[in-house]
Amino acid sequence: MRTEGNEGVIVAPADAVRVRARVEVPINVPGLGRRPSTMVSFHGLHDNREHIAVLLPGWDRRSDPLVRVHSECLTGDVFGSQRCDCGPQLHEALAICSHEGGIILYLRQEGRGIGLYNKFDAYLLQDQGLDTFEANAVLNFGHDMRDYRVAAEMLRALDVPEIRLLSNNPEKGAQLRAHGVGISDIVPTGTFVNENNHAYLTAKRERAGHALEV
Ligand SMILES: [Zn+2]
Repeated sequence: MRTEGNEGVIVAPADAVRVRARVEVPINVPGLGRRPSTMVSFHGLHDNREHIAVLLPGWDRRSDPLVRVHSECLTGDVFGSQRCDCGPQLHEALAICSHEGGIILYLRQEGRGIGLYNKFDAYLLQDQGLDTFEANAVLNFGHDMRDYRVAAEMLRALDVPEIRLLSNNPEKGAQLRAHGVGISDIVPTGTFVNENNHAYLTAKRERAGHALEV
């Protein structure tokens, strides 16, 4: 059953979210080689997008598993774009979670929530000298349109009330807590600087308070 939210947003009741399928998918983790994983789909996520959870063995060894909430970045995750640090961050999370067990919540909110084509438009503006936040403002987007409520819904469906969060982004932890996720610890991620993403990472640190040493 679906209900109408306060701002006209369709929201699903919390208990409507449940696991749809758990699929065994061996993956290739850069630097570690072939590792087992379980990929999970869901019923009833409030935005109806196809977000997935990737469970790395040992994730359920503790009551507060290590969790990386990763927003999709097609250019970085798949093609190794040097304009951001998403690819190395995902690979690092896969390596850490493969090593000690953990969960990667892979959220389909490309370009900090503005979408792939809009991200390209923002890149063109950045090429004219704007930083990532100014470019989003010109395109009439907020500096970060990501919504972590689905992450909370997925954790609830997985029966994980408390996590150790793998992140440098203070907003992520704050949003997850606001959506009812307990966070027992925040584990910092590495910083992956190159000549092409230096300005982007500096903007993330200075304008959004990311804990980065650039
Ligand atoms: Zn990226």
